[in-house]
Amino acid sequence: MSAANIDHWIDGKVVAGTSGRTQDVFDPATGRVTGRVALADQAAVDAAVASAKAAFPAWAEMPPIRRARHMFKFLELLNRHRDDLARAITAEHGKVFTDAQGEVSRGIDIVEFACGIPQLLKGDYTDQVSTGIDNWTMRQPLGVVAGITPFNFPVMVPCWMFPVAIAAGNTFVLKPSPIDPTPSLMVADLMKQAGFPDGVFNVVQGDKVAVDALLEHPDVRAVSFVGSTPIAQHIYETGARHGKRVQALGGAKNHMLVMPDADIDKTVDALVGAAFGSAGERCMAISVAVLVGDAADRIMPVLAERARTLVVKNGLELDAEMGPIVTRIALDRIRGYIEQGVAEGASLVVDGRGLEVPGHEAGFWLGGTLFDHVKPSMRIYREEIFGPVLACVRVPDFATGVKLINDHEFGNGTSCFTSDGHVAREFARRIEVGMVGINVPIPVPMAWHGFGGWKKSLFGDMHAYGEEGVRFYTKQKSVMQRWPESIGKGAEFVMPTAK
Ligand code: NAD
Repeated sequence: MSAANIDHWIDGKVVAGTSGRTQDVFDPATGRVTGRVALADQAAVDAAVASAKAAFPAWAEMPPIRRARHMFKFLELLNRHRDDLARAITAEHGKVFTDAQGEVSRGIDIVEFACGIPQLLKGDYTDQVSTGIDNWTMRQPLGVVAGITPFNFPVMVPCWMFPVAIAAGNTFVLKPSPIDPTPSLMVADLMKQAGFPDGVFNVVQGDKVAVDALLEHPDVRAVSFVGSTPIAQHIYETGARHGKRVQALGGAKNHMLVMPDADIDKTVDALVGAAFGSAGERCMAISVAVLVGDAADRIMPVLAERARTLVVKNGLELDAEMGPIVTRIALDRIRGYIEQGVAEGASLVVDGRGLEVPGHEAGFWLGGTLFDHVKPSMRIYREEIFGPVLACVRVPDFATGVKLINDHEFGNGTSCFTSDGHVAREFARRIEVGMVGINVPIPVPMAWHGFGGWKKSLFGDMHAYGEEGVRFYTKQKSVMQRWPESIGKGAEFVMPTAK
């Protein structure tokens, strides 16, 4: 089967790349090249931004309730095509099909939220701030806004951005990851079918060249980014220098604190799912288990057995628990970390490096990997591995565990497993992490709560989606009004005060 060309979507249609640069797209389960994605140059970015700019005035002028009706139509199409999108995700990302279905569903949640935009855009009004004068605030869209997204959620993470941005009256340019670009074009096609005018939603495929062109483009008003921390910092600094509003969500090292009173079987279920689901390639994956007191000795044998017996195979097979690693480069990086952990003296309890998947010899495979006796000074503890590698750290008590988590440079998600309500409450209040789970391993907030980490996991002030998302994609205007009957006589040279 020959590799398909994967192009841009500009002004309501597929537009072939003209830069002459492309990148191979793989099926990670087989190692085969299945596509060749165009990498945009400045001209492609300019064309996408120009289309979005041209579409903006009419789109922004459309009453929010009519914009919401387009969003309802899109919602219906997304629901209808959920499995097609999930299959496309598995084919290029590798995650198991049921997990890909879950990803699309969590994206759909945000579209449902965006359908409520008339309510979300409702302003504040104060009658009679002074005699005959009223004051109100309203929120207006920014213009052309851009989203730059990672490989690990090719449908859900774009959905954190464009439904809210577009419902609020902006037009959008998406720059997805070149590793799994196909779902972005499927989404663009559904947006077209839903009746969104051409130019409201555009996709430029590409790499750093496209990103930097968007960051420097004078007509792009705001940039939302999700990806690794070094790139998030680059996006934040460069975007801000070019006068843009920026939210840049970065990497993570999420800890699960396990108290001695936690139910062992339920905790192990939660740990294996959160550490090895999607091959650990989730920004909310648990990559560190902090085992308090005698929890460690009780949990470790059960955990090791579960890591050893994970069902790892092509994600399209319905009994697969874990699929392949996304690329050969990522596989080599993760293997390098495992070697590093051994060299640094951590105990390698389960080594996923020997895994073979019959019939898929050229795929990018790694089994679940488990380290015990990991120390905070080790690189496998400090750095984001972004693979199916769980590091266990033993601590004597709750306070030491909390301090360990708070001292880490990342602060995306965390969770605490316990049966003690007071401990749970203390954990939620004292932990310096943006998203917290109590007996919930992956506490990804629902659409109306907003998503965002602390510390090196988020550059910017506002979280993605939820009401913060609406605020990010709109600017506030305050209007003060009076009518001639109430206008006083003569000029006033003193600061107006309430009368
Ligand atoms: P990445 O940082 O490599 O890429 C993210 C995006 O930036 C892609 O669109 C990519 O093309 C672009 N990019 C890559 N290098 C660039 C450069 N030098 N200059 C400009 N743009 C560049 O991330 P990834 O590997 O695709 O995704 C995994 C990372 O994303 C992990 O670190 C993970 O924790 C993080 N992530 C974070 C969240 C969150 O909400 N905090 C969510 C999902 C993923």
